[in-house]
Amino acid sequence: MDKNQSTELLFELSHPGRRTHHLPECDVPIDNPLPTSALADTPPPLPEVGEIDLVRHFVNLSTRNMSIDTNFYPLGSCTMKYNPKRHERLAAHPGLADLHPLQSEDSCQGMLAILWEMQNILAEIAGLDAVSLQPAAGAQGELTALLIAAAYFRDKGENRSRVLIPDSAHGTNPASAALAGFDAVSVKSNSRGLVDLDDLRTKLDERAAVFMITNPNTLGLFDDQIAIITELLHQKGALVYLDGANMNAILGITRPGDFGADMMHYNIHKTFTGPHGAGGPGAGPIAVRKQLVPFLPTPLVARSGERFFLDYDRPKSIGRVRSFFGNVGILLRGWLYIRTLGPQGLRQVSENAVLNANYLLSRLKGTYDVPHGERCMHEFVASARALKRERKISAMDIGKRLLDFGFHAPTVYFPLVVPEALMIEPTETESKETLDAFADALLRICKEDADFLHEAPHELALSRPDEVKAAKEPVLRWQADSEL
Ligand SMILES: *Cc1c(COP(=O)(O)O)cnc(C)c1O
Repeated sequence: MDKNQSTELLFELSHPGRRTHHLPECDVPIDNPLPTSALADTPPPLPEVGEIDLVRHFVNLSTRNMSIDTNFYPLGSCTMKYNPKRHERLAAHPGLADLHPLQSEDSCQGMLAILWEMQNILAEIAGLDAVSLQPAAGAQGELTALLIAAAYFRDKGENRSRVLIPDSAHGTNPASAALAGFDAVSVKSNSRGLVDLDDLRTKLDERAAVFMITNPNTLGLFDDQIAIITELLHQKGALVYLDGANMNAILGITRPGDFGADMMHYNIHKTFTGPHGAGGPGAGPIAVRKQLVPFLPTPLVARSGERFFLDYDRPKSIGRVRSFFGNVGILLRGWLYIRTLGPQGLRQVSENAVLNANYLLSRLKGTYDVPHGERCMHEFVASARALKRERKISAMDIGKRLLDFGFHAPTVYFPLVVPEALMIEPTETESKETLDAFADALLRICKEDADFLHEAPHELALSRPDEVKAAKEPVLRWQADSEL
């Protein structure tokens, strides 16, 4: 096997005594501040390797990573767009990157000014009144907003126990509702893939606290009933939450606050180019309408004359949801992106994202089923249902085979309302040539031999790891005698 396809762990490269460097013997008295009882008897069992082996190990690993910098990454719902290098360079400026969160406010006025402006910009894009930058991801934004809703109703003396959620929603929506202490109630989709208004009316009563809607939804469709939906909820005194993961479709075109949402989250790592994938980090600021502002997490960044400060004097606040000011490094990249593009540029982002998705849709829809897709917003969901029925080729087979062509797989088996789902989101940053190469690969794959596809990928070091076993029996601790 090619050396850089090796699956050896660093521990397996270890030889006792190897080091990246050797320091001369210490020739001054060692003043150890820790009592002997606090010291370990033996050093921790870390791998012992020379510097060059260490460097090669990690550099080779890094080249095996699929990333937006190396591969087209049409992972639906995740908005894997290109992260401009200009913003990486600016974010690495020592005046920004070397700040410490425990510095005094007076010594980081520049960063506080950026965060203050970011709060205002995000409120404006949302069409809502105020923003908290604290939540560390979209899912935490959802939870934070639901805790705010709970505090709001408690404050009004209303007892509301339910959160209504369409069946096409992301799994984090019902999970957040449950964590915030609500009962999650599922609302059906209709044959158009939109909210079934009759089902919503049946389930909507004074027990409802919040309706969580993703718009455009996870099928890539803008729910054109949204004004009716928000009106229905407001008539019952309930709040509307917008899951803003799909903001890449509507920037500068419509605003959640204008179509009736009372609170929302952003995924800065998706819409506003925080580098993501492989689990982090993210930033999930929330925006809320006026009546909810007192309950936002503390502190908010505030301004008094020319001075910026952290405002802790907010008696109705639900408190802190994240240490310090949130994931500032990601918020900073989002701010740079927004300031670089400006309002017209942001609108163009969404227009091009929608155009790219519709181009791919039109190239694929004669061959793949697209159950709800005459047109789409920034993504669409194709289905391998017919291929599965007729030739036993599944969405998983197609996703795995795409890896051989150098493409990251689309999101598969989500949303749950489409069987054998392949959820494709190209984003605005891809060229027509890339989109065509991807479409060509998909058109070719569905004609390939089924047995060949069941074994795909054929070109990679690992083919089909047992994902269930990996999830249920994770090996998180290395032991010298463990069998790997
Ligand atoms: C990504 C996503 C979320 C969760 O956001 P995270 O930042 O991953 O926590 C919620 N809803 C939808 C529709 C998403 O795509």
